[in-house]
Amino acid sequence: MPTESLGTLVFLTGLIGVCVGSFINVVVYRLPKMMEREWQAQCAELRNEPLPVSEKLTLSHPRSRCPQCGHQITAIENIPLISYFLILKGKCSSCKAPISLRYPCIEAITGTLSAYTAWHLGPTIYTAGALLLIWSLIALSAIDFDTQLLPDSITQPLLWCGLLFNLNGTFTSLSNALIGAMVGYLVLWSIFWLFKLATGKEGMGYGDFKLLAALGAWLGWTMLPAIVLLSSVVGAVVGLALITTARRGRDIPIPFGPYLAAAGGIALFWGPKLNQSYLGMLT
Ligand SMILES: [Zn+2]
Repeated sequence: MPTESLGTLVFLTGLIGVCVGSFINVVVYRLPKMMEREWQAQCAELRNEPLPVSEKLTLSHPRSRCPQCGHQITAIENIPLISYFLILKGKCSSCKAPISLRYPCIEAITGTLSAYTAWHLGPTIYTAGALLLIWSLIALSAIDFDTQLLPDSITQPLLWCGLLFNLNGTFTSLSNALIGAMVGYLVLWSIFWLFKLATGKEGMGYGDFKLLAALGAWLGWTMLPAIVLLSSVVGAVVGLALITTARRGRDIPIPFGPYLAAAGGIALFWGPKLNQSYLGMLT
């Protein structure tokens, strides 16, 4: 592909990525709240109590507001990155309450990773699939970080999409993907139960099993050892650092999802090289 058209593709994909990052912010903020409301409604129904009354909440309704003063975010205040840094300067236009730096960070990270994907994979079906996977992993990481939840409404479609993309062997063969989905779930499920039987504690959640199953469906079972190894090493290092520096209690659960997601992203781009190098070390 000529350099100019590749440049345009990378730029446009980055731009789309920044906008998707903005949408991911909405998903990360609202999806856990929507799930909580659904659970409350189910509990009320089981107890034959009246449904709790609250304003309808979906990903598109109502329009975003400042959580401090309720000021409705206008269109000009809602432009990814630009509004935060140039128009609002990090503060609500109405009450001047600071807005978390995390919003533009997620937009910038999503934009950068999207542009990198287009540059790395070019105008191919790989790019479409990889973008879908990366966007889902960013949303899952942030939700898990905030709430220690990995919503089924993301992990399950992600698994099916992985199998769909691999019907024609886009990322790996269909058999590798199918076994990846099964083994991904079973590996963490087994570790979970061994850990629970040995210590009586729950080290991770069912969402983690489903996320690794989804990564197995996208990248195949052959990539699972590298993903588990990478995420455990990074998780252990960060966990130890948190315990020693922030004096974080050992009993506070540390979400595992972001590490799995990061390892999945690394495996997506550099998996075959990674496998070659560590298998090379063994033989
Ligand atoms: Zn405000």
